[in-house]
Amino acid sequence: QKGWMSRLKEGLSKSSDKLTGGVFTKKKLDEEALEDLEDTLIMSDMGLESAAKIVKGIAKTRFGKDLSDQELKAAIAEEIEPILEPVNTEWEINVHHKPHVVLVCGVNGSGKTTSIGKIAGLFKQQDLKVMLAAGDTFRAAAVEQLKVWGERAGVPVVAKETGADAPALAFDAVKEAQKQEIDVLLIDTAGRLQNKSHLMDELEKIVRVIKKVDESAPHDTILVLDAGVGQNAHSQVELFDKVTNVTGIILTKLDGTAKGGIAVSLAEKFNKPIFAIGVGEGAEDLQPFDAKDYTRALVG
Ligand code: GDP
Repeated sequence: QKGWMSRLKEGLSKSSDKLTGGVFTKKKLDEEALEDLEDTLIMSDMGLESAAKIVKGIAKTRFGKDLSDQELKAAIAEEIEPILEPVNTEWEINVHHKPHVVLVCGVNGSGKTTSIGKIAGLFKQQDLKVMLAAGDTFRAAAVEQLKVWGERAGVPVVAKETGADAPALAFDAVKEAQKQEIDVLLIDTAGRLQNKSHLMDELEKIVRVIKKVDESAPHDTILVLDAGVGQNAHSQVELFDKVTNVTGIILTKLDGTAKGGIAVSLAEKFNKPIFAIGVGEGAEDLQPFDAKDYTRALVG
C-alpha cells in the first residue's frame, strides 16, 4: 500500500504533466509561452482569476528568461502556495459544546458518508466521544452505509426508517448527544440535486430545528466536494453557502483526478478553509489539508 502523498501525487500528476507539457516545447518565457501557460492553468481547473494571477507573478521576475521544466514548476509552485495558504486552517473542535455539532452537506456521490466515517475514526482515536446521525433519510443505502462506518469506528449512530423526517432526526440526535455528553456529533444530510429547492428547504429546516436545541449550533457546516467535478464545485459552494454558511470544505477523490487545481480556484474565490482531503476509499484515506504538500503534489 502506497502512502497517501504518493497517491495524491499520482492523481494530481495527471494535471502537472498537462501543466508544463504544452508550454515547454518552448524554453524562453515570452508572451506566447505565458499565454500557453495561462491556458494550461485554466485547463487544470485553477480558474481564470488564479491563472491570471499566477502567470502575472511568474512574468514579473522571469519574463524573457530561459527556464527549464523544473524551474517553471518551481515558479508555478511559488505562486500557488500563497493562494492556498489562507485556506490551510486547522479544523478545531470545541469540546465544551457537548456536542460540537457538525452538519455535513454536499450533493449525492460526493463522498459525504465516507468522509463522515473516516472522520469518526480519526476523532475516536483522539479519544473524543463521537456520534453520527443518519440524516440522509431518503436513501436506505446511505443509512446502512453510515451504520457500517459507525460500527467500524465503534461510535453510535442515530438512525430512523427510510423516509423519516430528517429535521426531526437531527433534533433527536442533538438531544441524545447532549444527554450522553458527546463531544462531536456529525450529521449526514441528503444531497439530491434533482430537486434543489426541496433539498435547500430541508437543510434550512434542519438548521432551524438544531438551533431549538442549541442556539449556537451547528458549530460547523462542512461541504463535501468531489474534486472530479472541476469548476462545477463553484456552483455547489454558492448553492450550499446560500442556505447554511459553509464553514469548511472537504475535497474528495483526489487520488483519481486531474482536476486538483480546483483547490486553487476555490481558495481564490471563496476563501473557505479546506479542512481535509480524501485520497481513497479506506478508513485511513482522509488527510488534513496542507498547502505546501498539496502544491508540491499538484505541480509535480
Ligand atoms: P455521498 O453520497 O456523498 O454520501 O457519497 P459516498 O460517501 O457514498 O461516496 C460515493 C463513492 O465515492 C463511494 O463509492 C466512496 O467509496 C467513494 N469515495 C468517497 N471518497 C473518496 C475518495 O477520497 N477517493 C476515492 N477514490 N473514492 C472515494
